Amino acid sequence: MKPLESLTEEYRSLIDSSNDAIVLLDRLGRFKIVNKKVLNSTGYKESELIGKHFEKIVPAEYLSKCFELFKQQLKSSKPTIATIEIRTKNGKLIPIELKGSVAKNKGKIIGVNVIAKDLTELKEAEEELKISEERFRNLTENAPIGIYYNDFDGTFLYGNRMVEEMFGYKSEEIIGKNFLKLQLVDSDDFANIVKLFTLKIAGKATRPKEFLLKRKDGTKRTIEISNKIIDIHGKKAVLGIVQDITDRKKTEKELKKAHEDLKVSYENLKELDSKKNEFISIAAHELKTPLTAIHSFSQILQDKKICVDTEKMQKYMKIIEEETKRLENLVTKILDLSEIDAGIMKIKLENLNLYKFVDELALEVEPLVKKSKLKLEYYTDRNFPEILIDKEKLRQIFLNLIVNAIKYTPKGKITIKANKENERIHFQIKDTGIGIAKKHQKLIFKRFYQVESPYTRKITGSGLGLSICEELVELMGGKIWVESKLKRGSVFHFTLPMKSKM
Ligand code: ADP
Repeated sequence: MKPLESLTEEYRSLIDSSNDAIVLLDRLGRFKIVNKKVLNSTGYKESELIGKHFEKIVPAEYLSKCFELFKQQLKSSKPTIATIEIRTKNGKLIPIELKGSVAKNKGKIIGVNVIAKDLTELKEAEEELKISEERFRNLTENAPIGIYYNDFDGTFLYGNRMVEEMFGYKSEEIIGKNFLKLQLVDSDDFANIVKLFTLKIAGKATRPKEFLLKRKDGTKRTIEISNKIIDIHGKKAVLGIVQDITDRKKTEKELKKAHEDLKVSYENLKELDSKKNEFISIAAHELKTPLTAIHSFSQILQDKKICVDTEKMQKYMKIIEEETKRLENLVTKILDLSEIDAGIMKIKLENLNLYKFVDELALEVEPLVKKSKLKLEYYTDRNFPEILIDKEKLRQIFLNLIVNAIKYTPKGKITIKANKENERIHFQIKDTGIGIAKKHQKLIFKRFYQVESPYTRKITGSGLGLSICEELVELMGGKIWVESKLKRGSVFHFTLPMKSKM
């Protein structure tokens, strides 16, 4: 069979100018006419196709389908459409969409006309679109930020993995549901969300807003939402970018708190520093008084003339001795306080028989009591259980309070009591002395505070004893206070936690 035998030159150029492949198959399915596009696409020469069956270019998997269509087409005037692949001369497969129609000559069926469109580019474009859609979906799905969109009624259309994680719902549980009906936010925020939506839909610029999110499991998180209007397949929707800012808020809060704490610490430190300065200047002043006396009297004693007057000499020596004692006492107290302030004073617990302890203490202060013509009474249960306590500190507190009671009691008696009260021991040191006016009762525990009166003026003191007592009692977990009536006497109370023998 000769190619193009039956085609005029005009027809030939017409079919060759087509961008689609055009073929005429004879009644047996052999190529009778093929246009240039066919040759270009398949790589065959015209002579290699003409007279050959379409099997030559149709791969095996499409053959039965093509035979069927071919047979049908010969019998029907209705065109057939099919999408298949053809194989080129070098084995490459090309996707095509073919349209067949019955070919007639002078009313007689002579075969089948086939027009085929090369789908390679279309398929490639589709493939690319699929890949880019896939890439976009992957990106959105795995974005480290919540992405969702909903229609203008607030119905969820999409939510990525982060949204699922944040909301605690699977995306199928929220898609198709209304944002507000899911009760993802508290009623307070409800109105704000609606407002944000409305503003956005109206095309107004909105800033990211904070909401309290109610997750599916009931837990609450703080989220921040920014909205944007987007176009999905020609329909407008609201895109939401959502971030869980709970931890950020917590850190911000902690940072703020740390900043405030730092400010308070700084203020405390400043106050402490000024208190320390005040303490040093008062301490220096207090130390100077006995030192000046010691200095002046030792100078007088150096005067040769004084050596003859033994009575005077002894009087001055006594003053020097008393002032030295006072100085020593003051230095000891200042050292105690600075140890407490530095936080290095440690509690050393040991077993103690309270009855024996008070008994020994009474013996120790007896000479002082006698010298002051006072009476000392003490009441402690002989069967008081052995306790764990810092004995040295307890002794220091007691001595301070008893010595004070002696100092400020011109006549009468001093009573010591120790009782067990629940898990505490209640100590009392009572005197029948000058008493303390109400207005001074809190102040006497302050450092260097001394009540001014004609009586106290004659007494040497440092004004530090009670503040040391208070610090020590508190260090041991207890409390100290005073009950007093002017000219009637005072009771100093303190309690300490009772730790029994282990
Ligand atoms: P001081 O060394 O001056 O006694 P304290 O701190 O021990 O220092 O006491 C502070 C002040 O409290 C004393 O100066 C005194 O005015 C008053 N005070 C302390 N104990 C008694 C007491 N038992 N009776 C009356 N006043 C007291």
